[in-house]
Amino acid sequence: MLSKLNPPQREAAMYLDGPCLVLAGAGSGKTRVITSKIAYMVRECGMEARNIAAITFTNKAAREMEERVGKLLEGGQAKGLTVCTFHALGVRIVRQEAKLAGLKPQFSILDSSDVMQIVADVAGNKDKGVVKAVQWAISSWKNALITPDEAVKLVTDESTALAAKLYPAYEKTLRAYQAVDFDDLIALPVRLFDEHPEALERWQNRLRYLLIDEYQDTNGAQYKLLKQLAGVRGAFTAVGDDDQAIYAWRGADVKNLYALQTDYPKLKLIKLEQNYRSSNRILNAANTLIANNDKLFEKKLWSEHGMGEAIHIVAARDAEQEAEMVAMKISSHRFEHRANFADYAILYRGNHQARLFEQQLRNHKIPYVISGGQSFFDRAEIKDITSYLRLMLNADDDLAFIRSITTPRRGIGAATLEALGSYAGQRHIGLFTAAFEEGAGEHVASRQLESVREFCNFINKLEYRALREPAAQVLEDLLRAIGYEAHLFESCELREAESKWSNVRDFVEWLGKKGEADGKNLLELAQTVALISMLNKGDEATDAVQLATLHASKGLEFPHVFLVGVEEGMLPHQSSIDTDTIEEERRLMYVGVTRAQRSLTISYCERRKSGKEIRTVEPSRFIAELGDGLKHSGGKKAEPVSQEDALAKLAKLQAMFSTPPKT
Ligand code: ATP
Ligand code: MG
Repeated sequence: MLSKLNPPQREAAMYLDGPCLVLAGAGSGKTRVITSKIAYMVRECGMEARNIAAITFTNKAAREMEERVGKLLEGGQAKGLTVCTFHALGVRIVRQEAKLAGLKPQFSILDSSDVMQIVADVAGNKDKGVVKAVQWAISSWKNALITPDEAVKLVTDESTALAAKLYPAYEKTLRAYQAVDFDDLIALPVRLFDEHPEALERWQNRLRYLLIDEYQDTNGAQYKLLKQLAGVRGAFTAVGDDDQAIYAWRGADVKNLYALQTDYPKLKLIKLEQNYRSSNRILNAANTLIANNDKLFEKKLWSEHGMGEAIHIVAARDAEQEAEMVAMKISSHRFEHRANFADYAILYRGNHQARLFEQQLRNHKIPYVISGGQSFFDRAEIKDITSYLRLMLNADDDLAFIRSITTPRRGIGAATLEALGSYAGQRHIGLFTAAFEEGAGEHVASRQLESVREFCNFINKLEYRALREPAAQVLEDLLRAIGYEAHLFESCELREAESKWSNVRDFVEWLGKKGEADGKNLLELAQTVALISMLNKGDEATDAVQLATLHASKGLEFPHVFLVGVEEGMLPHQSSIDTDTIEEERRLMYVGVTRAQRSLTISYCERRKSGKEIRTVEPSRFIAELGDGLKHSGGKKAEPVSQEDALAKLAKLQAMFSTPPKT
């Protein structure tokens, strides 16, 4: 298992005498060090898997890592191993220590749209810009472990002043709902461990060794949690690459890389220099590009792979043509090379860029999945259904209460809910509880109150069944009882309703299967749904082209990569040009380039629509920074291939292969 590692990788995998940091460039096998080290600790050092935790950046990465470790271990050896994100670990800690955190174990986890709504409520202001600014300030404070009291002292302008004023009310609302936001999932365990050393000791005994992937993107709160769990022994291995730090905007701080060296003077630092992923042409371009950033750690990367194909730089007339060109190229390339769809990735700076590519891929009948886009679980129809599940779990979750009682409409209007809400507010209780109090009758008309109580009883009955019957069955009955399908077809256009209903069917099927596989009932499953809301349903293994933002592509690799929309104003993003912070954008480009194994195509448009206007745009400065070894085509210099020509070529290729390509 260690024979498949090079000497410095092996050294990192076997080093258990103290804290260890592997600092190395893209594709040098950092993640492989983590998986091998877990296997080594279990198989060679007799450690129990349940005492080991590996922290990754996304759920997708966690699943991949689990799979890879599974292959290195036998039978039950991997049992109890923790492989998850910082947030998922946070959920486990808060759930188990809920009492100490002042929560009930079935607390709700709010996603960003829930959070926006609460901010809008406490601000008494629906202006999106204001709400976003407040939410962002509060989130940043939480990521830096700054309490409402401390925040008041950090006010710099009008917007932060408003945020500091609303922060306590926001927190109070969350607690009243028995709910936490994503930032709490790190901040709460940290505070809990500070205040309850005995709880920390329990967790230190449970998780005796920690491994952290993508360490460069941890934020202050996550670093503190790591330090707490690793304790004075510093029982951890962190791997990272400062050139791939791309989450500063979410509070991540590369300084945490350097902090490790001061906080742990005995830190063992290991560097890896051989890249196993990319051809030399791609690697050289990546190295040349990133050399434009100021650097603190010197890293060189080399590869035994040959020079490989030239990097293609393609100019398109506009975004439509760019998307069409990529779709056609994938079609023909796949036939020519008998490749799988899953060998291709289209990477872009912002989610909004995906739409045109989706359209063109559909036109060309190319299957695709999107990661890092709007999560499946963020869709309105899925949130409608999960609001019922949330309410069954946590009757104090007023957001879920309001959403479920009004979707579909059951004759309970805003006035009724407001009256009930003001009564509940006076009594400091949730809406659900308030409905059953006698005093409610003084505020809410009796017929209306009857309807509310009927709804609550319906939820109670459902909860009773959810604990005992198969998940899929309870869900089916729920959908039927609330007439959700009819509701969709009444409230949306036909095509939209069909698509939404099919998402709901997928959701039921997915939960049903998961319930059977994990032996869990609907309520237990519902607790995990909130967490996987960061996960994409599209992540499931299928042969499909991957569409992803550069941020979401971290840690992944693909034989053929299309980096699209590489223009000034897109990558680097206009806001970073304006604020002169393009080094992070360059790292983002570096992440994109280094995802490619064999071929890399970089495209840009000459004109792009912005609002109603069509503007001429310039290719990104990063293209010039890739050095030589680039092959230009399209744009003013060469006429792009016409669609007829491309289709004719494709038809010819398809005819050449009598057997269908393997999928
Ligand atoms: P990133 O910075 O993008 O996360 P990484 O440093 O984590 O990259 P890995 O994903 O671990 O790199 O490895 C890149 C590729 O190289 C993988 O396909 C991996 O299996 C392969 N690889 C790593 N180490 C070796 C090795 N010693 N021998 C052969 N292949 C290796
Ligand atoms: Mg990695």
